[in-house]
Amino acid sequence: MNNPHAVPHAIYGIDKWGKDLIVVNDEGEICLKNPLNPSAPAISLPGILEDLEDRGVAVPMLLRVSSYLESEIRHINESFADAIDRVGYRGKFRGVFPIKVNQQAQVIDRIVEFGAPYSYGLEAGSKPELVIALAHRLAKDALIVCNGVKDEEFISLAILSRKIGFNTVIVLESPKEADTVIEVVKKLGVEPMLGVRVKLTNQITGKWEKSSGDRSTFGMNTDQLVSVLDKLRDAGLLHCLKLQHSHLGSQVPDVNDVRRAVSEACRYYTELTQEGVPLTHLDLGGGMGVDYTGEKSATENSINYTMREYCANVVETVAYAMDGAGIEHPTIVTESGRAVVATSSMLIFNVLEATLYDAPTAPAVEEGDHHLISDLLAITEYISAERLQECWNDATFYRNELRALFHRGYINLRQMARAERIYLHIMARIKHHAAFDDIKVSEEQMARLADIYHCNFSLFQSLPDVWAIDQLHPLVPLQMLNEAPDRRAVLSDITCDSDGKIDRFILADGVSSSVPVHTLPEDKPYYMGAFFVGAYQETLGDLHNLFGDTNVVTIDLRADGGFDLLHEQEGDTISEVLSYVEFDPQDCVAAFRRMVDEAISSGALKSKDRKVLMGAYRDSINGYTYYE
Ligand SMILES: *Cc1c(COP(=O)(O)O)cnc(C)c1O
Repeated sequence: MNNPHAVPHAIYGIDKWGKDLIVVNDEGEICLKNPLNPSAPAISLPGILEDLEDRGVAVPMLLRVSSYLESEIRHINESFADAIDRVGYRGKFRGVFPIKVNQQAQVIDRIVEFGAPYSYGLEAGSKPELVIALAHRLAKDALIVCNGVKDEEFISLAILSRKIGFNTVIVLESPKEADTVIEVVKKLGVEPMLGVRVKLTNQITGKWEKSSGDRSTFGMNTDQLVSVLDKLRDAGLLHCLKLQHSHLGSQVPDVNDVRRAVSEACRYYTELTQEGVPLTHLDLGGGMGVDYTGEKSATENSINYTMREYCANVVETVAYAMDGAGIEHPTIVTESGRAVVATSSMLIFNVLEATLYDAPTAPAVEEGDHHLISDLLAITEYISAERLQECWNDATFYRNELRALFHRGYINLRQMARAERIYLHIMARIKHHAAFDDIKVSEEQMARLADIYHCNFSLFQSLPDVWAIDQLHPLVPLQMLNEAPDRRAVLSDITCDSDGKIDRFILADGVSSSVPVHTLPEDKPYYMGAFFVGAYQETLGDLHNLFGDTNVVTIDLRADGGFDLLHEQEGDTISEVLSYVEFDPQDCVAAFRRMVDEAISSGALKSKDRKVLMGAYRDSINGYTYYE
C-alpha cells in the first residue's frame, strides 16, 4: 500500500475492476474508454460533467453510456456465436433480456436496437413487462419469454400476440397454470408456444445460495412436471411445448456451478424429449455475474470467469450432454440481465462537505479546567509510533470520563469542547504516525478514524442494493487522482437516515471500511462516481425522505474523443414526489397561501412580504429534490 513507486491512484485498483472501460489519464481524471473503438482516446469524465453542467444538467445524475450497452450486447452474442463455431454446435443462440433488470424505456429501446442483428429478444416476468415487450418491433425469429405467475389476461395477451408474428413463449410455472392455459387456448383457438420451468436441485454458491436448489420458490419438481405433461397430452397440446426453462439465481460466482446446473438442465431436456415432447429450445435463465471487485474469484461480489468463458462452458456442456443422449442440438436461450446492463450506468454525485475526524492543533488548558483535561493534553507529549495503541486507549478513556462529567454537570460546554478538540488532535497525530511510520492499523481502527464525507445522493433511491444486500460497487473520486489521497472517509448520503451511509469500498488490496479521498478543494467541486449500477438499482430504489429520481443522461462515446448527448431526462421535482405520496401540489400551494393571507389580515405580515413568501414556496415545489 505504501509502495513509493506506485502511482497515487493504485490504491483504488482501477486497473483490476475498470475492465478497459474506466481508466485514469495523466491529469488524474477518471476517463471512459470506448470498447467499440479501442483506439479512440479515452474521454475525461469530469470533462463530460463540465460540459453537461454548461448545458444545464446538474449532479447528482445517473450517466448511461450507450456505447457500453452496445458493447455488452455484441459481446454476449458474439461469444456464443464463437463458442458455437468452435465446438461445432449444431443449434443457435437466441438470448433474451429480462426486462425487470432495467425497465427504463431508454434502456429497453436501445437493447432492442442493438440486439436486432442477433435476433435478441425480451423476457417478461409480469403483465406490465409483457406490455413493454409487445410495444417493440423485434427481429422475426427473436423470442419473448414469459415467466412468473400468470393470470388469464396475461396468458391471453401472450397467445394472441402470436397472431401478429411475435414468438411469445408462455413458460408454465405450475400445474395450475397449465390448467389456465388449456382453458384459454380452448377459448381463443390459437396455438400457443409453451415452455416448462423446471426446478434444478443443484445449489449455487454466492448471495442467492439460499433461494437456489430445492427451496427455490419457482419451477416445478419432477412430480409436478409429469402432471403438467399429462395435462397437456390429454388436452392435445403437448406438441406446443417447445422450451424448457430454468434459472439459477443471480450473480453466480463460480463457473463450475454453471456447468453443473447446465448438465442437470440437460438431463431434464433429454428425459422430456424421450417422453415425446418436441422440445427445440433450452432456456438456461440468467445468473451470469459481474466482477464488481475485479478479484476474478468465486466470491460474493466477484466471479471466476469471463463472459466468453461462461458462453463456452454452456455450449460445451449442452453439446456433450445432447451428443451423449443422441438428441438434436437445441437452440440455446439465456436470460442474462446483470451481465448485459450493469456496466452501462454510473451514478455521479458531488461531496457537499466533510466532517473531519481530527484537529490540526490542540487548545491549551485553562484555569479551572478539570485535571482530566490536562491528562488528556499530556498524551500529546508522549505520543510516538511505539506507544500508539496505548495513547489511543488513554485518550479514549479520558474523553469518556470527561463526557460522563459533562453529563452530570461537573464541567461546562466550553470545557467539554476543549476536551473534544484535544481528543481529535490526538487522533490526527495517530493518523500521522500510522501513515508515515507504516504502523499497521486494523480495518476496525481505520473505520473509527475515518472522516465523514457528506454526499449529494440518496442511497435508498440510487444504490438500494448497497443498503439492502451489501452489494459492492467500485466507488472512487473522479479527479485529483495524480495526487496521493490524504484522508480516509466513509460516505454519508443526503437522507436523514443513519443507514444512509457507505462504509465498504473496493480497493486494490481488498474491501475496506473507508475510502481514500482528498482534502476537499475550496474552489471547485469534488465529484465521486459509483460504477456498474445499470442492473436492478434504478427501479428498486425508493423515495426515502422524498428524494426522487436523479437526472438521467444518456451519452454515446465518439471515435474522436468527444461524446454525443443522446437523451436527457430531468430528475423528479418536489411537486412530482409529492404527488407520488398522494399530496396535491396545488392544494399545498393553496394551503400555504391561506396561512400567508391570514398572517397579513392579522397584521403579523406586511402585504409586500406575500410575494416573497409565495415565491420561495413555489421555487421549492418546482425544484430538484437534491442539493442544488
Ligand atoms: C431475474 C431473472 C433473470 C435475470 O438474472 P440475472 O442474474 O440478472 O442475469 C433471468 N431470468 C429470470 C427468470 C429472472 O427471474
